[in-house]
Amino acid sequence: MKNKNIDLEQDLWEEGSFMETLGTEDIKTKLRTFHMKHDEEMNYNCKKCNRKISAHNKDWHAELCDQCFNEKFHVDDA
Ligand SMILES: [Zn+2]
Repeated sequence: MKNKNIDLEQDLWEEGSFMETLGTEDIKTKLRTFHMKHDEEMNYNCKKCNRKISAHNKDWHAELCDQCFNEKFHVDDA
């Protein structure tokens, strides 16, 4: 039997490894936005520069726009 949840969680930790304090239930509630694009539901603002950000960035990029997130976490594949 193939357990799809395990693959999913590995993906989660790769993208959101800075959120290690999140519990399993928190992750489940955020799976919806995890699979969304970075420009979907631009209903939020970066907490650093106030630029419009997506629901995905809000949940998975520490409420930062891509630029501020990369500056903070030094992501290479920007
Ligand atoms: Zn920003």
